[in-house]
Amino acid sequence: MKHYTNGAAFIDQEIVPISEAKISILDWGFLHSDATYDVVHVWRGRFFRLNDHMERFYSSMEKLNMAIPYTRKELHSILSSCVKASGLREAYVEMITTRGLPEPGSRDPRTCTNQFFAFAIPFIWITKPQNGLHLIVSERQRIPAESVDPVIKNYHWLDFVMGQFEAFERGGETAVLIDSQGNIKEGPGFNIFSIKDSVLKTPAKGVLQGITRKTVLELATENGFTVIHGNLKPEEARSSDEAFATSTAGGIIPITKIDDQIINGGIIGPITKTLHDSYWKLHDEPKYSAAINY
Ligand SMILES: *Cc1c(COP(=O)(O)O)cnc(C)c1O
Repeated sequence: MKHYTNGAAFIDQEIVPISEAKISILDWGFLHSDATYDVVHVWRGRFFRLNDHMERFYSSMEKLNMAIPYTRKELHSILSSCVKASGLREAYVEMITTRGLPEPGSRDPRTCTNQFFAFAIPFIWITKPQNGLHLIVSERQRIPAESVDPVIKNYHWLDFVMGQFEAFERGGETAVLIDSQGNIKEGPGFNIFSIKDSVLKTPAKGVLQGITRKTVLELATENGFTVIHGNLKPEEARSSDEAFATSTAGGIIPITKIDDQIINGGIIGPITKTLHDSYWKLHDEPKYSAAINY
């Protein structure tokens, strides 16, 4: 079988090469960011925590009054088909539901037919492994949770994207945004942890409940570390012993510089390393991963 090695997509009930997957420019997913999505990764031919990602996806859709005509089993099978068509052993696999198009002449969201898409493309890293991340704490506020619930995975990313431009201008690689009280929240597609005196800290509220974050919380407990779910101030983050970002796009990503402050002498810290190695080990365990039948 010939593989679509640049990626494969599911659109209009068909699997096509990623370059052929096109949507209507009138879809509200495009016009209004009226969409929700989830991303699961495939590592060495296995989905990691697919059930968790699917649960979050269905829950996000429900909160947005969206629905798809597929059961979890069917969704699993569609995602597998995308990966199989790509032949990729390491992949970034996305599922998206958009509001779709309203009836002609209408602006009533209830008249929209929701659209579902999925695709598998080569694995994406927030930053390349080994290199610690240089993080910038932006002064920009993340859209408040009262306006757009961050627990729903969403594409309201203008704040994140402008934060990224700010990060590049200041010599960094990516940025985290703050809330109205000046507490660090999250960045474009990642949660954040800081470590001080072997105690981990991560923002409790106003962030996406990341599956990688959840995995770190479980691993930290197993390894006997205390985790505080609380407010993380920029100055506190800058004075941490270690820090890392968590995302399906790269796993546990060490942070070795925050603003102008070098963290742990610019090298990956021991707790981060322990968690990182345990995280990747889980990828072979049947309890956490599901093999793809290529
Ligand atoms: C996807 C995402 C994350 C990370 O979640 P994972 O489930 O670990 O991939 C964190 N923050 C935001 C805003 C995200 O979109």
